[in-house]
Amino acid sequence: MAKIKSHYDIVIIGSGMGGLVAANIMAREGKTVCVLEKNNQFGGNLQTFVRDRTIFDTGVHYVGGLSKGQNLYRYFDYLDILDGLELKKLDENAYDVITFDNDDIEYPHGQGYENFKKQLVKYFPEEEKAIEAYCIKLQEICRKFPLYNLEAGKPYGNDPELFEQSAKDYIDSITNNKKLRAVLAGSNLLYAGIADKTPIYVHALSINSYIQSSFRCANGGSQITKLLVKRLKEKGGEAYNHQEVVKINCIDKKITSVITSHGQEITGDKYISNIEPKVTLKMVGAEHFRKSYNSRIQNLESTVSAFSIHIVLKPKSFKYINKNYYHFTNCEKVWTGHEYTQKTWPETYMVSMGVRKNQDEWGDQLTAITYMRYDEVEQWEDTFNTVAQKSDRGEAYEKFKNDKAEAFLTALEKKFPNIRECVQSLHTSTPLSYRDYIGCTRGSMYGYVKDIKDPLLSFISPRTKIENLYFTGQSLNMHGILGVTISGVVTCSEILGGEYLIEKIIQRTKK
Ligand SMILES: Cc1cc2nc3c(=O)[nH]c(=O)nc-3n(C[C@H](O)[C@H](O)[C@H](O)COP(=O)(O)OP(=O)(O)OC[C@H]3O[C@@H](n4cnc5c(N)ncnc54)[C@H](O)[C@@H]3O)c2cc1C
Repeated sequence: MAKIKSHYDIVIIGSGMGGLVAANIMAREGKTVCVLEKNNQFGGNLQTFVRDRTIFDTGVHYVGGLSKGQNLYRYFDYLDILDGLELKKLDENAYDVITFDNDDIEYPHGQGYENFKKQLVKYFPEEEKAIEAYCIKLQEICRKFPLYNLEAGKPYGNDPELFEQSAKDYIDSITNNKKLRAVLAGSNLLYAGIADKTPIYVHALSINSYIQSSFRCANGGSQITKLLVKRLKEKGGEAYNHQEVVKINCIDKKITSVITSHGQEITGDKYISNIEPKVTLKMVGAEHFRKSYNSRIQNLESTVSAFSIHIVLKPKSFKYINKNYYHFTNCEKVWTGHEYTQKTWPETYMVSMGVRKNQDEWGDQLTAITYMRYDEVEQWEDTFNTVAQKSDRGEAYEKFKNDKAEAFLTALEKKFPNIRECVQSLHTSTPLSYRDYIGCTRGSMYGYVKDIKDPLLSFISPRTKIENLYFTGQSLNMHGILGVTISGVVTCSEILGGEYLIEKIIQRTKK
């Protein structure tokens, strides 16, 4: 077993991107840091897995804002992980394409705002003004979020309009063209968009970073994790896998220690939880929090879960495609893909191909993701299955997965007619896979739903009601690699001082 010391300045529970960013920042500040991860692999949603000697990503298929001088590039520069990162830029003129049944056009999202406009105007020449207004609006919104632009200030902007207008209402307000509306909203699986809930700022912050620039990580997103763990260790920090935290001890409004599943007790001055707030509060014990705070957190709505098929392709059977597909049965379905029935599922999906170092013209794998509600797998929720802790969920579950995979493949065939012949082997992930690997409630993809009707409800402060316990990760402000990188900065700002930390980051990344 790993030799974990008994005391650290900072104990971090969970090694998702937010936890690892926080760990690196604190270690750079000379603190003794220990990251405790329950899984075999570090990184949470950045984990990769191998089937048939082929690498797949779990929860990161492309990353935005990584061209020189852009926001994620500058944060990664500060974290010293840019050198070593193997990236492939997606198609400049169509990093994403939005497609529909019975329509052969692949509506492109291009990189760079001028190019984004240029590519779309080709298909909507009479809608140039609406597309222009959309581009201006996205950039205006993003300027209102200081940390998104590496500036000191509140993590969230101050403009209430941003939080109270829905992404759908805004997009509908700029054009009556139904297809264009669907195309502009088409990649909303990126944030599990809900028509009457998702605020426009969530859309803007997610999409803007990909319009800035879009990349895939060669051989998977876990290279980001490996670099973060390496840098952490260089700064004297420690990270341990197979160390599930099962209890967080609290005495007199202070966390005193955490207990791992091996029974080891580790103490710290401060504790940062990179696991879901709902789960964290349960581990501490509801009695340590005000009733109103606990019930507010416990009642937060989790974002929907997903079902994915991961296809190992026969050699030289299917060409590598340097873009992602967001597909819908029709444009009315763009905001309602999660409201499917058994008959209509899947109404939408995203397809992304992994890229190898020295990628040639042939792809070796493809992942397709669609929504799946947790209630579909609820009957097996008492089972648990990861590489570290295997259990058989039984034959009925295998049949359920096979039936779903078959239905999904049939839907994919409409867009990619030869796909079935190219399958060497096919593997699936269900809401239970996400739940068991990440530890998230009901296999939620992106933390908690943000709702225009109650914007403050889903704002979770990195400070908890316990003075030495903090949150970080996707439940805080935004999900996605950029969102959780910023969450790590937000959390450490509470400990180190926001202006001090951002100034350090700016100085380090000054070009
Ligand atoms: C299907 C899918 C596709 C996605 N695609 C993209 C994409 O293309 N681009 C993008 O930018 N983002 C994407 N995302 C979102 C992105 O991956 C996440 O927002 C982000 O990685 C979450 O980071 P986090 O810091 O919140 O930690 P998480 O990834 O949530 O990790 C939490 C960690 O805590 C550990 N943990 C849990 N409980 C315990 C415990 N008791 N003790 C110790 N450790 C524990 C878990 O094992 C895990 O390692 C996707 C997400 C999903 C689900």
